[in-house]
Amino acid sequence: TAATVAAAPEDPLFGLMKAYREDPSDKKVDLGIGAYRDNNAKPWILPVVKKADNAIHNDPNLNHEYLSIGGLAEFTAAAQKLIAGGDSPAIQEKRVCSLQTISGTGAVHLGGLFLAKFHPQKPTIYVSNPTWANHNQIFTNVGLKLAQYPYFSAQTKGLDIDGMLQTLRTAPTGSVIVLHACAHNPTGVDPTQEQWRQIAAVMRERQHFPFFDTAYQGFASGDLARDAWAIRYFIAQGFELCVAQSFAKNFGLYGERTGAFHFVSAPGPDAATASSHIASQLAILQRSEISNPPAYGARIAGRVLNDPALFAEWEVDLRTMSGRIQEMRTGLRERLEARGTPGSWDHITSQIGMFSFTGLTEGQVKILRDKWHVYMTKNGRISMAGLNTNNLDYFAEAVDSVVRE
Ligand code: PMP
Repeated sequence: TAATVAAAPEDPLFGLMKAYREDPSDKKVDLGIGAYRDNNAKPWILPVVKKADNAIHNDPNLNHEYLSIGGLAEFTAAAQKLIAGGDSPAIQEKRVCSLQTISGTGAVHLGGLFLAKFHPQKPTIYVSNPTWANHNQIFTNVGLKLAQYPYFSAQTKGLDIDGMLQTLRTAPTGSVIVLHACAHNPTGVDPTQEQWRQIAAVMRERQHFPFFDTAYQGFASGDLARDAWAIRYFIAQGFELCVAQSFAKNFGLYGERTGAFHFVSAPGPDAATASSHIASQLAILQRSEISNPPAYGARIAGRVLNDPALFAEWEVDLRTMSGRIQEMRTGLRERLEARGTPGSWDHITSQIGMFSFTGLTEGQVKILRDKWHVYMTKNGRISMAGLNTNNLDYFAEAVDSVVRE
C-alpha cells in the first residue's frame, strides 16, 4: 500500500504559519492564524483562566481518571445555558442534549457524522460561500453531499442576502444548512437580526435543518447574549437544530480542545424522549471515535461558567479582547482613509470578529508577503488580532502600496 499513497498537499494555513516562523525579517507581521494576540503580538492567557487553573491545581481531589463518554457534566450543562440562555424553555423541557467534544472541530464532526448516519434521507449539507475551509473536508469525510449557498458579495463586501435566500428557497426540502452564529469566518460579515428572521422564515418554509457553528460567542461583540441571538431566535421559533460550540477563542483554550455539541429537539410531547434517544446514539458515536473527551479545558471552562464571580471576570476578559480588535479595525480604516488609499474601507469596521475580508487580491497578498513580510491567507482574509499599535502604521503603508501598484 505504501507506494500507492501519494503525498498530500500541505494544509495552506499551517504552511503559512511555517513560512512566517522561518522569515528572519524583524518587520514581519502574522495575520494568518485565527488566534488572539495581545498588543505585543503575544498569545494571551485570560486572567480568569489563570485563576481557574490555579484553583484546579490546588484541588486535592483532582485526579486523572477518564471523564464519562459525554464529558464533564457541569461543563456541558453550563455550555448549554450559554447557547440557549439560562432560562431557556428548551433546556427546561429536557430537549437539549449535549456532549463535550474535541473543541469546535470535533463538534462539527460529531454533528456531521450523526446526520450522515441518522438523517432519514441522505441530506445535502449547504455551507456558505466562502466558509471555514475545514467544513468542506469534515462533511465530505463523513459522506455528506456538500453544496454552497452564496454569502459574500464582492461588490458590497457585505452579505449577499438575496443570493443566499434564493438558494435556500431552491435547495431540496429538508436540507441541512450550516450557519455561522456570529463573526462569520472568513468574511467577518454577519446577517442583521432582520436578515436572520428572513433566513429563518425561508428555512421553516422549506423544512431545512439549521446546523449552527459558534466559535466566537462573546469574542465578537463582547456581549455573550448578543452573539448567541441567532441561535436563540431559531430555538424560540421551534426549529429542530444542532450547534457546534468552540471555547478555543473565547477562553483562549485553543490547544486544550474544549467544545461541545448540542442537539435541540423540536418542542412537543415526545421531545424529551426523542432527545434522550439522540443522546444515547451520540454517545455510541463518540465512544467509537474518541472514547471520552479531554478533561483539562473543560475543567477550566466549567469552573468559570459555574461561578458567578469568575463568570463576571470572564466577561471583562472578553471585552478586553473584542475591544482591542475593534480598536484595530478603527485604526486601520482611519489610516487607509488618511492616506487616500484607493477603494472604500468602511467594511473594515462593519465586519466583526477575528477576521476581516479585505478585498485584497491573491496577487496583492503575494506582494505583501514577498516584499513586505506580511502573512495572510490568499483569499485576502486578515486576522485582526495580528494587528497592534506597533505594526498598524506599517501594515497600512504596505496595503496602500500594493493597492496602488
Ligand atoms: N468553526 C469555525 C467557523 C471556526 O472559525 C473555528 C476555528 N477556526 C472552528 C469551528 C473550530 O475551531 P476549534 O476546533 O479550534 O475549536
